[in-house]
Amino acid sequence: MSAQINHFIAGLPSAPSERQLPVFNPATGQQEASVSLASAMEVEVAIATAKQTFEKWRNITPLKRARVLFKFKELVERHRDELAEMLTREHGKVLDDAQGDITRGLEVVEFACGIPHLLKGEFTENVGTDVDAWSVSQPLGVVAGITPFNFPAMVPMWMFPLAIACGNTFILKPSEKAPSVPFRLAELMKEAGLPDGVLNVVNGDKEAVDTILSSPDIQAVSFVGSTPVAEYIYQNGCHHGKRVQALGGAKNHMVIMPDADLDQAVDALVGAAYGSAGERCMAISVAVAVGDVADALIERLSPRVEALKVGNGLEPGIELGPLISQEHRSKVSGYVDAGISQGAKLVVDGRNYSVEGHEEGYFLGGCLFDNVTTDMSIYREEIFGPVLSVVRVPDYETAVSMINDHEYGNGTSIFTRDGDSARQFAHDIQIGMVGINVPIPVPMSFHSFGGWKRSLFGPLHMHGMEGVKFYTRRKAITSRWPTGIRAGAEFVIPTMK
Ligand code: NAD
Repeated sequence: MSAQINHFIAGLPSAPSERQLPVFNPATGQQEASVSLASAMEVEVAIATAKQTFEKWRNITPLKRARVLFKFKELVERHRDELAEMLTREHGKVLDDAQGDITRGLEVVEFACGIPHLLKGEFTENVGTDVDAWSVSQPLGVVAGITPFNFPAMVPMWMFPLAIACGNTFILKPSEKAPSVPFRLAELMKEAGLPDGVLNVVNGDKEAVDTILSSPDIQAVSFVGSTPVAEYIYQNGCHHGKRVQALGGAKNHMVIMPDADLDQAVDALVGAAYGSAGERCMAISVAVAVGDVADALIERLSPRVEALKVGNGLEPGIELGPLISQEHRSKVSGYVDAGISQGAKLVVDGRNYSVEGHEEGYFLGGCLFDNVTTDMSIYREEIFGPVLSVVRVPDYETAVSMINDHEYGNGTSIFTRDGDSARQFAHDIQIGMVGINVPIPVPMSFHSFGGWKRSLFGPLHMHGMEGVKFYTRRKAITSRWPTGIRAGAEFVIPTMK
């Protein structure tokens, strides 16, 4: 019998919802669980619970809130292997990568543990004679997070630890394709001492999301997922008066300059393009070969792509697992067909890859294209699979203008030995996160994560100080005590004396 995953409201697992969705193990193609899809009414119960808990939680001191997170970190470390295996079974990424997913989330927890320091305000004595002024950061109220399938541990932990540390209460709506890890994280938060109702998990689909977006009791929404949904969340959330940060899709380019260390660049490309089967928003999906570097690049790259070890992520030695669903596998394979028909050269074809003993799994071997041009759909659109396109350009300027013209602006990187080119690239490029000889430049938790252009809707990035700003609002207080009050009303705008 397969497992049943419901919601986690007021510190308790709830009863199954009327609507259910199967959850598959993408390596076997077998159903492993059923997940409840919350009705609007069920989401409203979670929101009401979070609203009721807010007044109490915001008055718990930041130090005590941080102590819950210290304990949570310890518990996640203790349950790390269990969580990683759970993650691989639902997502498909290899176990080591699942551990990395957890680690990158834990780093945000570590950052949030410093909340007493992060929430310190500003104070000026004597802004006017005998008048003091200070500012404080206060929580917003109930906030929500809507997360994608591809980082079931990290992305929820980008959001709820910091939001809760700031004194908000939280509704998490995880991806219905990989719901077990987020649910388990909520259980561990309870075990760490979090009062019931501060963190609530509602599983569901568009109905749950729309209820969150239109609720007058939710003050802010953090979203990570595909660009069309990110834009929808941003527009609807803003329409309903909410603060929104909505991170979307990507098409990340890596520029290989003629002076780059080619072995290093090839190693970087193989990991960044094919790791996690390309299902990362920071995956490199375009290699931009500058000058005469392309032939040597393809020559070294193709045997590496052919030799990729694809299989069940739970088995040792595997480098990439399956795609998330059969439907997504067909979509990615369709992009490869389109690339061929639009004139690109398919150097390595992974479409008929099959894993012995896992014939029902959603596997695709690594695919490598050469001679890709900017009008092709494999260049313009996010494929989100193990497909790397090589674009040949004559010079640095063409590489930069091509990247700047792309609709997405999440991440990019340059491989070069020349400090001047690297510095100029960091200055010129219209992309939110830039790597110099670093293929996947995901900022650490104490910096902020976010793209430009259609990879992010809203002004504030995730975690780091931008995360603290997103989950708090500033209040400025100006104060004067009776001995300083002069008699009589003043009818001009107050100016400091
Ligand atoms: P998705 O957009 O399909 O789903 C994300 C969330 O939105 C899920 O919780 C889902 O239930 C919900 N959702 C889906 N369709 C909806 C609709 N029509 N109305 C309301 N809610 C809806 O994304 P996904 O397939 O789970 O994740 C992959 C995408 O996420 C890729 O595009 C990837 O680039 C992106 N991503 C971006 C980042 C980033 O930081 N920019 C990080 C990870 C993933």
